[in-house]
Amino acid sequence: MTRSRLAVLAGPTAVGKGTVAADVRRHHPEIWISVSATTRAPRPGEQNGVHYWFVSDEEFDRMVADDELLEWAVVHQAARYGTPRKPVEQALADGRPALLEIDLQGARQVRDTMPEALFVFLMPPSWDELVRRLVGRGTEPEEERERRLATARGELAAEAEFDVTIVNHEVHAAAEELVALVCSEVADR
Ligand code: 5GP
Repeated sequence: MTRSRLAVLAGPTAVGKGTVAADVRRHHPEIWISVSATTRAPRPGEQNGVHYWFVSDEEFDRMVADDELLEWAVVHQAARYGTPRKPVEQALADGRPALLEIDLQGARQVRDTMPEALFVFLMPPSWDELVRRLVGRGTEPEEERERRLATARGELAAEAEFDVTIVNHEVHAAAEELVALVCSEVADR
């Protein structure tokens, strides 16, 4: 069974999911990491096909209509994000450990369709630290930040729905903890 090689990383906004996933990508090329489609605009330095597939609303509509997404959600009431299904299936068919870094709504959808996946919750060391990280990033306007914090409060409560929790004290340590889980998952099943 190669299907159990799928791991889903979720957690509250600004906890550092993207940074942890980037660290895994840098140090563990043997782990395949999904590239999501999104309707939000690229931030400076973000590349199409590397960080996201940046698509129009019309293209996202088409992907949904054609059932090309394994899951998708509106995040922070702002933009749509989704996981292209085919590349995930291909990675699993190739026997590669695969990782999705998605929001909580998406993780719940994957749990419904692929309950055998490993669900990992990334926790901030504290609420104050989470706020500090969100403000520190400084990429969002005030209104957007408030919206993200409100989302994060609700998201923290979802920890109990997950198989395992990693506390993100330090990015590389958290990434290595995640890799150990993903790889032990492969060996165990
Ligand atoms: P950002 O816009 O900061 O890159 O990401 C915002 C949020 O979207 C993050 O919480 C991230 O986990 C989530 N996200 C990224 N890709 C996907 C996806 O494919 N599906 C879902 N449901 N959420 C995603």
